[in-house]
Amino acid sequence: MIRVTTFNERTVAVFGLGASGLATIRALEEGGARVAAWDDSEAGRKGAGDAGATLVDLATADWSNFAALVLAPGVPLTHPEPHWTVQKARAAGVEVIGDVELFFRERAAVCPDAPVIAITGTNGKSTTTALVAHILREFGNDVQMGGNIGRAVLTLEPPVANRIHVLELSSFQIDLAPGANPTVAILLNITPDHIDRHGTVEHYAEVKRCLVEEARETAVVGVDDAWCAAIATALEARGKPTVRRISVQGPVANGIYARDAKLYDGETLRADLKGIATLRGSHNWQNAAAALAAVEALPARFRENGDIQAALRSFPGLAHRLEVVRRIGSVDFINDSKATNADSTEKALLSFPENIYWIAGGKPKAGGITTLAPYFPRVAKAYLIGEASEEFAATFGDAVAHERCGTLDVAVRRAAAAARAAGAEAVVLLSPACASYDQYRNFEVRGDAFKALVAALAPEEVGS
Ligand code: ADP
Repeated sequence: MIRVTTFNERTVAVFGLGASGLATIRALEEGGARVAAWDDSEAGRKGAGDAGATLVDLATADWSNFAALVLAPGVPLTHPEPHWTVQKARAAGVEVIGDVELFFRERAAVCPDAPVIAITGTNGKSTTTALVAHILREFGNDVQMGGNIGRAVLTLEPPVANRIHVLELSSFQIDLAPGANPTVAILLNITPDHIDRHGTVEHYAEVKRCLVEEARETAVVGVDDAWCAAIATALEARGKPTVRRISVQGPVANGIYARDAKLYDGETLRADLKGIATLRGSHNWQNAAAALAAVEALPARFRENGDIQAALRSFPGLAHRLEVVRRIGSVDFINDSKATNADSTEKALLSFPENIYWIAGGKPKAGGITTLAPYFPRVAKAYLIGEASEEFAATFGDAVAHERCGTLDVAVRRAAAAARAAGAEAVVLLSPACASYDQYRNFEVRGDAFKALVAALAPEEVGS
């Protein structure tokens, strides 16, 4: 755990008492601060109270006593409108920050040169964060990974000179961390997302820009979308930090680009991703190129004797993202439950050239799967589940053979049997292009259900 000493003997309001809120309270108290904790939900307050937090109703509290408001990242800071605690803090002249800001302030206080790699972007954050952490661990380093992935940042071990923190940061977390100055920042890509929370795509891009702009040494920027390309150009014009460009579309002057699953720095081949199942698809080439550029931006002592090709090859990947679950005969079973919209499923369909037995459906998103029509020829047959079944069936029409299965268990059995009967290399792919909430609590539970169903398939049953 990280002791936050920068509010020693002062009182801090903490609002939002989920896992990161509880970690924040502990970290502040261990560092000598007093905490006034609150949450809009009764359950949140009870959990914190049971854990020993001092509950103070922030609606009636005297805000002139507070040195800061630490907000959970899920609580609206600006849009659709500032949360009531933010309004109260502003009225009282109290700064509003998040746990990531506390981390960076503590680093500044105890070990300003401790290396930190921070990763953001609309898509690929978790994969890239896990990959950077994996490579650095394979190279023999002491690595702490957290933030928007896995553990809340303040539950990690504290920054020290030879320990590398690898942090995934959402735009909400960046918005609450004005002092974030990682050694290396990665901005993978920007597509309109979370606009409900940021108002406009301009503001969303602005938040992401702040992170790379404040990088101390190096900004690694994917330049395949217009927003990020503009950010890279502006940073280069400023001269600091050093910019390393990433592209999967073509060569870049200064950085790493991917072509046909190979990563190049100029003319030099740096790594070959062919045959690495966990880095399949050009979206993962972008993630791998960014990870490579970030690792290379660290001081040499963290990279000595490291074999990047071996480290990439041993990347275990993340659950629920094109996760290879099992192979039976010539059929691969792939869990891509994290694909909750058509954009993500597009990446999955692009990753397999043919013979896809595609399980799709759930709670549909606006626009459905109409944008996926160019990939329909890759699909041997679709197996529909959940609320989206009728809509998706209508989109397929005569273009894709499909059947309505209702539930995942039926879909898995039918898809497995058909894929096996085809007698060729084939893939049974759960990539729903839908939220899970009509049938499952979240995408993880849905993916785990798929894995359990696949694990239960007997090889001979698949052939029947
Ligand atoms: P995030 O943490 O940003 O949500 P993940 O690494 O969890 O991203 O990947 C989620 C999904 O986003 C993947 O299943 C894949 O469909 C898609 N994806 C991953 N990396 C990229 C990328 N670099 N560009 C576009 N889409 C991506």
